[in-house]
Amino acid sequence: MPTPMPWPALLDYSVEDTWREQSDRDDPTDSRLGLNQIQSNSFRTAIQEKRSLSLEDINQDQVSVIESSLETEVVSLLCCPVPSIQEDRVAMLVCLVNKESFCEEDEHFLNETFRCLSPLLSRARAYDEERRLREECQSLLTVARNLFTHLDDVTLLLREIMAQARHLTKAERCSLFLLDKERNELVAKVFDGHVAEDGTEQASVEVRIPANQGIAGHVATSGELLNIHDAYAHPLFYRKMDETTGFKTRNILCFPIKDDQGVIGVAELCNKINERCFSFFDEEIAKAFAIYCGISIMHSLMWKKVRDAQHRSRLSNELMMYHMQVSPEDVTKLSETEIPSTEHFSEDFMRLNFIPRTITENDTSLAVMAMFQDLGMIHRWRIPMVTLAKFVLMVKKGYRDPPYHNWMHAFSVGHFSYLMHKAVGLMGKYLSELESLALFIACLCHDLDHRGTNNNFQVASKSDLAALYCSEGSVMERHHFAQAMAILNTDGCNILENLSRKEYTQCLDCMRDVILATDLAHHLRIIEDIETMVKDGYDFQNQRHHQLLLCLLITCCDLSDQTKDWKSSKKIAELIYSEFFSQGDLEKAMGVRPSEMMDREKACIPELQIGFIENIVHPTYKILVSLFPEVESTLTAVEMNRLFWERMRDVYKRRYSNSTSSLDMFEDETLEQEVLALSCESD
Ligand code: AMP
Ligand code: ZN
Repeated sequence: MPTPMPWPALLDYSVEDTWREQSDRDDPTDSRLGLNQIQSNSFRTAIQEKRSLSLEDINQDQVSVIESSLETEVVSLLCCPVPSIQEDRVAMLVCLVNKESFCEEDEHFLNETFRCLSPLLSRARAYDEERRLREECQSLLTVARNLFTHLDDVTLLLREIMAQARHLTKAERCSLFLLDKERNELVAKVFDGHVAEDGTEQASVEVRIPANQGIAGHVATSGELLNIHDAYAHPLFYRKMDETTGFKTRNILCFPIKDDQGVIGVAELCNKINERCFSFFDEEIAKAFAIYCGISIMHSLMWKKVRDAQHRSRLSNELMMYHMQVSPEDVTKLSETEIPSTEHFSEDFMRLNFIPRTITENDTSLAVMAMFQDLGMIHRWRIPMVTLAKFVLMVKKGYRDPPYHNWMHAFSVGHFSYLMHKAVGLMGKYLSELESLALFIACLCHDLDHRGTNNNFQVASKSDLAALYCSEGSVMERHHFAQAMAILNTDGCNILENLSRKEYTQCLDCMRDVILATDLAHHLRIIEDIETMVKDGYDFQNQRHHQLLLCLLITCCDLSDQTKDWKSSKKIAELIYSEFFSQGDLEKAMGVRPSEMMDREKACIPELQIGFIENIVHPTYKILVSLFPEVESTLTAVEMNRLFWERMRDVYKRRYSNSTSSLDMFEDETLEQEVLALSCESD
């Protein structure tokens, strides 16, 4: 005789709306039929036809399931569909077992009782549901936090994902496969919950399976979740795996992990603990969880790529710096040479019209040391002589050899900054000592590793530099600053090593701002602010004024070739247009139409020079002179050069019918003679 159950023995009440949803699905045996241990067409009929069931209506297998769930033998059973009080539908299925014999009254009694109780039960269910959702949400948030703290290690992340997935769905075991798209294989590297007999977790081995085979393969290909109640009955289940591992798979919940491009992996959960199979709620959790997994895996892989790229870039930087090494003999020689006064290089060295390019390239390193010395920077910032020597030689070596943007350009830009310091006493009066230092170093470094092509070219040619910096703009200028940093970070080159931490960061910030300000696009953006500042009067206490002044100064230094005599200015134009035209040739070869200035077949050099002076150079020096009348001669020189270019244009146009003027004009001495003759006449 079986042990009698307390009466009534309520097995479960069904969640009818999930049944309705479920009835549309492919697998009608889904466990959400309330009595979620039972797969039975009889129960479906009971709900659909609203009729009661007795023990005879249910087949023996299902009876066994009920018995094992109740842990008792079932000798009698009454299962009643209970209608909803508000609607014409079945709200629940109530199942009573083991009364000696059930009669119609029992059925009636059940019906009435549960119909009246149904609103209460609905509320309880809603409450239950809300609590479940809250808990689910909480668990998912914990999962998100755990996943996102493991982004730096993919293996750890995958381990965490699997542990969380097991925990959320109460599965015995979890495997996670990532899709190797190239080989079209699913790869599992780490497993969770594989416990060996001695209780230790099994060592990880990489398992690869074809991406279209088995349950995981099916999920990867279809992108759809599979909830398999009986693994051995499923045609895609591969029994051999169980035979080799000794693990007995009962049921499987397998779901895809996707990013916006599609499936990137598959998670396979095995054996719902203490239950016959995974439920609808497990499916829901799995789907939400898969979203977090997808995001975190993609982030983690991307993070790894970024880190690898950083390492590669650091490595190539090291390599570049290694090959850029200057010889120790050269460093010793320069550092041990007694620094002469700047006048040693020329008695006019300090004059505004002095042309620094007249100094031989060999002497420029020592001349830079002399300027550092004369500005009092070596003493003020306690710069060791060997460090300064190595720094200067490295910077010099950091320039390539295009016609214009080479070391001699950087040297002359630095020289003009020196001139400004001498002529108007910038340091202490207009700029802080630290800003003066930053400005002078920035001048020397401002075009480091220039390749003779401009920002537009980097973007159009999709160069690595553009890829690195184009989102921020000023591609080349950012590279020049990065190069300056790389030199400062090279062993024995850090001339700022004796600055305090605060001074050090301030100096680097200032250098960066100044180097970025050499982009003429930046200059044009702030020129009105500079004008306003000069009109209002320079205020030493105003930090913005310091920034604007530094920007004005670096642009003037950068364009200072235009403040020298006509011969020099003409020579500079020859250098710059030969560089521009080479870029234009490259652009034509790339199928890109060069700008007129870069096109040797279209550019009219005198015309372009007049435009450049009128639109950029002259307004800039005009502001400089209005702030520092001491340097008025620079503006006069610019105006003279404009006049010469106008004469050059007139003579050229008179002599040659077409309006273009290629680099040949610089070879034509008679042209120059005519221009000079014209100048004498007008004098
Ligand atoms: P940077 O490249 O730092 O020397 O910035 C100065 C920019 O000014 C150059 O890239 C040129 O675009 C422009 N520039 C300088 N001198 C001339 C010139 N003589 N004619 C036309 N553009 C010039
Ligand atoms: Zn420059």
